[in-house]
Parts: sequence; C-alpha cells; structure tokens
Amino acid sequence: MTSKLSLVWLRRDLRLYDHAALATALGRDGVLQPVFIFDTDILASFSNPSDRRLSFIAATLSSIDSSLKTKGGRLLVLHGSAKELIPRLANKLGANFVCAAEDYEPVSRARDEAVAKQLAGICEVSFVKDQVIFAPCEVTKAKDDPYKVYTPYSRLWRSTLVPTSTAAYSMKDDGRYSDLCEKAKTEGFKVLDAGDPVALLAACGYHYKEDSLWPVTDARTRLSRFIKNAADDYGRGRDMVAEDGTSRLSPYLRFGLISVRECAHEALKAGADKWLSELIWREFYAMILYYFPESAQQEWNPKYRGVLDWSHNPEHLDAWKRGMTGYPMVDAAMRQLLAEGWMHNRARMVVASFLTKHLRIDWRLGEAHFAQLLMDYDMASNVGGWQWAASTGTDAQPYFRVFNPTLQSEKFDPNGDYIRKYVPELREVRSDVIHAPSKQKFKLNYPAPIVDHSSAREQAIAMFKTAG
Ligand SMILES: Cc1cc2nc3c(=O)[nH]c(=O)nc-3n(C[C@H](O)[C@H](O)[C@H](O)COP(=O)(O)OP(=O)(O)OC[C@H]3O[C@@H](n4cnc5c(N)ncnc54)[C@H](O)[C@@H]3O)c2cc1C
Repeated sequence: MTSKLSLVWLRRDLRLYDHAALATALGRDGVLQPVFIFDTDILASFSNPSDRRLSFIAATLSSIDSSLKTKGGRLLVLHGSAKELIPRLANKLGANFVCAAEDYEPVSRARDEAVAKQLAGICEVSFVKDQVIFAPCEVTKAKDDPYKVYTPYSRLWRSTLVPTSTAAYSMKDDGRYSDLCEKAKTEGFKVLDAGDPVALLAACGYHYKEDSLWPVTDARTRLSRFIKNAADDYGRGRDMVAEDGTSRLSPYLRFGLISVRECAHEALKAGADKWLSELIWREFYAMILYYFPESAQQEWNPKYRGVLDWSHNPEHLDAWKRGMTGYPMVDAAMRQLLAEGWMHNRARMVVASFLTKHLRIDWRLGEAHFAQLLMDYDMASNVGGWQWAASTGTDAQPYFRVFNPTLQSEKFDPNGDYIRKYVPELREVRSDVIHAPSKQKFKLNYPAPIVDHSSAREQAIAMFKTAG
C-alpha cells in the first residue's frame, strides 16, 4: 500500500459509477477508502424504527460493499455523529485527503463547514458537485442574485448546458480501493457490517425489511425502461395517475443510486424535453432553498408570514393523513403514500392543495407528514412543492386557483383505476360515479366528504384575501 490515503465520504451519492467524489479521489495518487456514516444527527428525525428508507439505504450499502469486494476493497460503515466521526477517522487512518459531494440543504451545509474546519489542520478536503448538473450559484441572474421564477431560470440552465455538463466521470480504479474495516485499524469506532443489511440496521436499533417496490438494483433499468416506453408520451402520461407515465426514479435520484448526469444525458439523447424540465425543477428548488434557507420553515413570500389564519382541526388532519376525507382521489393518494412511501406528482398537487385550501391546514404539517413517509423526501423539492400548492412559495399557484378534487379525479383518473387500487371500499363502484360516490343513493362503507368543495373554496380564497 502506498502511504497516501483518500477517504471518500458517501452521502447522497450511493453508487460506484459516474461518481464525482470517487473520481476526484481516483485522480490523485494513493488508495481510497469509501466510508458511509449512519449519522445519528440525521437519524434523530426518524421516528419509525422500520422506516423503509433505512432499509433502502442498508440494502444499497450492502450492494456497494459487494461490488467493492470484487475490486479488493470494502465499504467502511460507521454509526455516530458524522460531524465528529469524519475528522476523527481521517486522523486515525492518517488520510491525506477527504472528499465528498456537495449538499445544499441548510443543515448539511453547516455540517460540512464544521467538518472542513476540523479537517483544516489534518488533511486536504474537497466538496465536489455531484447531485445536480448545475450548483445553485451556477445559474443566477448575477453573482448571488438568484432567480425567483422557474421559466427564466430554466432558460439560463438550458443555455448554460454544454456536452461536458452531462458527461460521465471515468472510474478507472486500477485496484486502488482499500479495506480498512478491520478492528485494529478502526479501534474506537462503531463499525457496522456493510455486507449484512439486517445486522447493520439491528446494530443501530432499526429493523430491516426487504422492499419489493423499491429494489436497489433497479435504478438504471428504470431509466432505460422509462426512456424506451414512456418518455415520448410524458407530456400526457405524467398526469395520468393510474398509468406508468413517469419514471419513478425519485428515490434513486434522492439517494444517488442513479446519476443525474446520466438521466439528463439520456433525456437529451431521446429528445425527452418535458422530462428534462422536471429535472430542472429539481435544481430550481435546490437553488431556492440554498438562497432562501428560511423558506424551510417560513412562507417564502414574506407577505404571508404569520398572517394566514390556518385552521386547527386535528380530526381533519387525521382524516387527510389516513385517506378518509370522502374525496376519492385525495384518499387514494394518501393511502398510496402509506402503502408505497411514494405518491404520483399530480396526486401530490391535489392532496397538498386539499390540505391547505379545502381544510385550510398549515402547509408545514403536510410537509412534515410527507417528510416522515416519502421514500424520495428531499427538503428542497418537498418544501417547494408544498409552498407551490399553498400559494406561499416562489412561482406558486395563485391563491384563487383551488383544485376541485372531483374534477381532478375525473380528468386524471377517468376510469377510476387509481381510486380502485388504493380505496378498496370503492372497488366495485362504476367509473361514472366513482369520483363522487356520496352523490349516489346506495350505501357505501366510505365516508361522506368532510368539507363541501364550494364553501371550502370560498373560505380559502377569503383567508388569502384577508392576509394579503
Ligand atoms: C407537495 C409536493 C411535495 C413533493 N415532495 C417531493 C420530495 O420530497 N422529493 C422529490 O423528489 N420530489 C417531490 N415532489 C416533486 C414530484 O412530485 C416528485 O419528484 C415526482 O412525483 C417523483 O416521481 P418520478 O420520479 O416518477 O418523477 P418524474 O416525472 O419521472 O420526474 C423525474 C425526476 O424529476 C424530479 N422532479 C419531477 N417533478 C418535480 C417537481 N415538481 N419538483 C422537483 N423535482 C421534480 C424528480 O427528481 C423526479 O424523479 C413534490 C411535489 C409536490 C407537489
């Protein structure tokens, strides 16, 4: 072994191909040790010991570890506070270099700054762009003057794009991955067995559950299947909630099992322009959160801060969470979230609008519920999506445009297939009545609407008018 060692700290980039941090370390002399920290600072917000995201991460780490073994290396997985462990590990192993991908969330930025500070006297450190094509500060009106509207942002994003923006990193490793997992090298650290996801989670007090909905080996297959079967018709199919019209790649993008460069490259090659626009929305919201970190907690639009008269109705909130509002599309969507840890984008817009407008419940409560359950939970996109629906965000839905959940259902689930899939009480109901079953004479084991659409709409508009 040469004397030079690079530690590559994996976070939202859980893969071994087209990997900016690994490629950066491979570009230097010496060997590399990839490391992942089951970070207790992050885990503190996970209230469910069987959270499916933890199983997804554990299974991914196991698959990375298997691949590294074929290259003579191992993935080092530690449990504890990353802020404290990374500098201590670099010191203990005598690393010359620590590399990780940039993370733009407020808490992650603070953590990375703290780590960089502690590493200053120990070794070189570098954070490199990986999870986006363009970092927040790369697409702005002028230096640190961010766009607040999507269309001009996306125009500049597109005109800034050159072929190298989406080019994959070369990952030629020449057998330089190392295995520093043995006890003697890592004494004083809680090392988890990356090869065994069940034991790994158990050692931290969590339960592993195999998840057939989100196989960790599926990322690139999903991308090619989407490009082949659905990308051409995405402009229409993306809104049809019962169809396989979107890629369902969001959890894979969230944790970096797939490279966004590869996604954008394939989109450009296939002429999937509308789909590329969605990848740009993802970067737009990352940029918004970067420049307006307070928007994670507060209304992005200062005009609405502290002045909206939200309703405090725990029964309504509970009915919404359980999918028992009496509006079939809302209920199907909320139950899809509970069953799959994922929800179709059109359905997310409908349920978020329903919570904030029909029930006039604070968007933060909806955002927090999604944060607990979404496989793809990403603070920037979630806060962005919620504030869009609540009309408090940047480039948001105007407050007077209140989705009619029945019309949304008729339009985007015309046969009621989505409803039937998730709301078994309505499985036998005919397509022409399934969108508003309470209007029928026959009795169903399904709740009547908890609010009336027309009056709820009027009250929502009044709430915004009074505030603004
Ligand atoms: C209230 C609300 C909350 C949301 N919360 C999240 C969240 O926590 N995490 C998340 O990744 N997305 C979130 N979205 C955006 C969007 O719903 C999901 O990204 C999308 O449904 C994922 O499905 P897909 O992978 O099939 O998307 P596709 O349609 O195949 O799109 C490809 C990718 O583009 C990105 N993308 C698509 N639409 C959006 C969008 N509107 N905003 C930002 N990125 C987008 C995603 O990374 C997605 O995987 C939210 C939207 C709303 C309205």
